[in-house]
Amino acid sequence: MLKNDLLDQWDRENFFHPSTHLAQHARGDSPSRVIKTASGVYIEDRDGHKLLDAFAGLYCVNAGYGRQEITDAIAAQAKELAYYHSYVGHGTEASITLSKMILDRAPANMSKVYFGLGGSDANETNIKLIWYYNNILGRPEKKKIISRWRGYHGSGLVTGSLTGLELFHKKFDLPLANVLHTQAPYYFRREDLGQSEAEFVAHCVTSLEEMIAREGADTIAAFIGEPVLGTGGIVPPPAGYWPAIQEVLKKHDILLVVDEVVTGFGRLGSMFGSDHYGLEADIITIAKGLTSAYAPLSGSIIGEKLWKVLEQGTDENGPIGHGWTYSAHPICAAAGVANLKVIEALDLMNNARDLGAYLKGALADALGDHPHVGDVRGEGLLCAVEFVKDKDDRIFFDTSEKIGPQISAALLAQSQVIARAMPQGDILGFAPPFCLTHAEADIVVAATVQAVGAVLG
Ligand code: PLP
Repeated sequence: MLKNDLLDQWDRENFFHPSTHLAQHARGDSPSRVIKTASGVYIEDRDGHKLLDAFAGLYCVNAGYGRQEITDAIAAQAKELAYYHSYVGHGTEASITLSKMILDRAPANMSKVYFGLGGSDANETNIKLIWYYNNILGRPEKKKIISRWRGYHGSGLVTGSLTGLELFHKKFDLPLANVLHTQAPYYFRREDLGQSEAEFVAHCVTSLEEMIAREGADTIAAFIGEPVLGTGGIVPPPAGYWPAIQEVLKKHDILLVVDEVVTGFGRLGSMFGSDHYGLEADIITIAKGLTSAYAPLSGSIIGEKLWKVLEQGTDENGPIGHGWTYSAHPICAAAGVANLKVIEALDLMNNARDLGAYLKGALADALGDHPHVGDVRGEGLLCAVEFVKDKDDRIFFDTSEKIGPQISAALLAQSQVIARAMPQGDILGFAPPFCLTHAEADIVVAATVQAVGAVLG
């Protein structure tokens, strides 16, 4: 089938690709690629090109491609029981085992796991449960959700609203009412260049406090954030940011949703970003790394405080009116169980921590002095290089120049290495599979230096 000469034509005629320039794709003006197979950190297309995937798909194939332990588990589960639902108390060995494995690894005070299919639907679940929670507590006005500019939480109606990136709002009539955005914790892009990191954190806290005062704490239900901003630019928080933000939230009885779709299960070199930064979440969102994307599965890990109220709600109102046909799908759950076992058996989380430090250090050594490299940053196996027009005065390139996309395209064309041009700003993102080796990291760095040279001199 992959030899079919018509695939390219069929693709352009029939396939609605997400996050794609639809008109260019349909006209054949933009490149397309048919992926055929993959192993370790490499993917291979149908024309035989082997590409080093330094973004692990969409930062999700954490265990690396082609892990037989996971594909065998999927096949065995499909043979034994391909599907049964999880409504009204039904379960499977895989889904029950996985929920226990998640809670055994989750931060303290977490109580139950609700399974969905992707990060977006998990965050939709979270917001519904938070609204339910406040209704059960007799606080129907306490419904607004605070997110951050540059946060990424999905592309559904509520979750696309929570996402703080213009592309996800423009022409979609988003954000919906009840969703507010506060300051992104992005020190490199601070408005006042004279601000110290501590002053910038104080500014983030003041902006949040002012928003809460303006709106009224009794109207605000929750705050949602990724431990490290992901799609918004791969930005670790400035020192002291999370403790200071948490203090404000606690003071105003505002729940904290920690979106660990990217950071969950080891990407920062810790099991959860919540552990990494001392976050006390009321709900943790998980997806990608839960199955390393071998099957679509997400989860909402619900804290004990919320859970107690949900129980009270069903005692008062009957079964909770929330469920997906494919919640806790047994094939996906089996993939999750096998994936977590592989990550641990091969000590991949520690490799992510060590190789992440190595990759960031090597990128900084190789590019830190380049006149157009403004920032090299990262945490664990998640790092980024940000490009600027003028380093001394931190002047950014005009977006029309598309420097980030040009560099990622050059990287691919010259060296067959994939890094992601992040959608807002000239930022090249790296998030390889956890099995990355030093030699592969060296290839990525050398290729990046070459691509930067080709575009920026
Ligand atoms: N939350 C975060 C932090 C993400 O990075 C993503 C996707 O990249 C999502 C949620 C949405 O997940 P999905 O694309 O599986 O719906």
